[in-house]
Amino acid sequence: MREFAATYRGRLAPSPTGLLHLGHARTFWTAYRRAIAANGVLILRNEDLDPQRSRVEFATAMIEDLTWLGIRWQEGPVADGNGERGAFAPYTQSLRRPLYLEAWRKLRDSGSIYPCTCSRKDVARAAQAPHEGDAAGHPAEMADDEEPLYPSTCRNQQPSACTYAEPAGVNWRFRVPDGDAIEFVDQHYSAQRYVAGSDFGDFLIWRRDGVPAYQLAVVVDDAAMRITEVVRGADLLKSTARQILLQRTLGLSQPHWYHCDLMLDEHGIRYAKQQDALSLRHLRALGETPEEIHARF
Ligand code: GLU
Repeated sequence: MREFAATYRGRLAPSPTGLLHLGHARTFWTAYRRAIAANGVLILRNEDLDPQRSRVEFATAMIEDLTWLGIRWQEGPVADGNGERGAFAPYTQSLRRPLYLEAWRKLRDSGSIYPCTCSRKDVARAAQAPHEGDAAGHPAEMADDEEPLYPSTCRNQQPSACTYAEPAGVNWRFRVPDGDAIEFVDQHYSAQRYVAGSDFGDFLIWRRDGVPAYQLAVVVDDAAMRITEVVRGADLLKSTARQILLQRTLGLSQPHWYHCDLMLDEHGIRYAKQQDALSLRHLRALGETPEEIHARF
């Protein structure tokens, strides 16, 4: 069900796992401009779910870099790094665990998830958003980042979810409705369609080591923070289909979606955080101004 809120509420949702680069800058600039155009509210959410990969230094750097770029937000960590403001605090995912647990319980009680004992490389990544290759077609990039199609090995193997009081100790997957088409209208890319069970499989919502997965956390937070439009990179289009399934199951309203074009380097490969040469910090140190960065978009 779609609800139309009176006030536009958008969000910036960086993960502090590296320095922001030009690709992030473009997406966040778009989110900022759309919030302004709608006379709305912009939220900064620190997506520091993964304790192994998130660093406080990167969270500090992203606030500084966004501010330098000219982006302003009304809710979330304040620009000087001292605390947060806004009615939906905390805006830091590592502090929002009770909300994710509540959603896990709902999913468990409705039989929508199951414990999975498979040990796979993708499990380690589940707290991160599964960024895919760009629309220009770079499947090699995609294969590295995207959560692989799970063969449903544990779907009917494990003890019933109801026997678990807590998620910890085992991985948890969402049972997708095989063959169902998930359709949505993207504000930038128009009509989108993904088929559950073939475009994506049973996806992780909680990791064995106790960390909630990106898909669950982002859906819970977007609803709790009353986000009306999600602006993010086109590499997360398929994740939107997964998130719509979670929203339906949890009875949450669906925001609008706006997926931005990805920025490609001279080889046609999308920018990754590892490429420090394209980090905003580096470009700034070379003397590039925020206006010159905006002109690159
Ligand atoms: N923290 C996620 C990322 O960095 C956010 C993705 C989203 O906007 O949903 O990719």
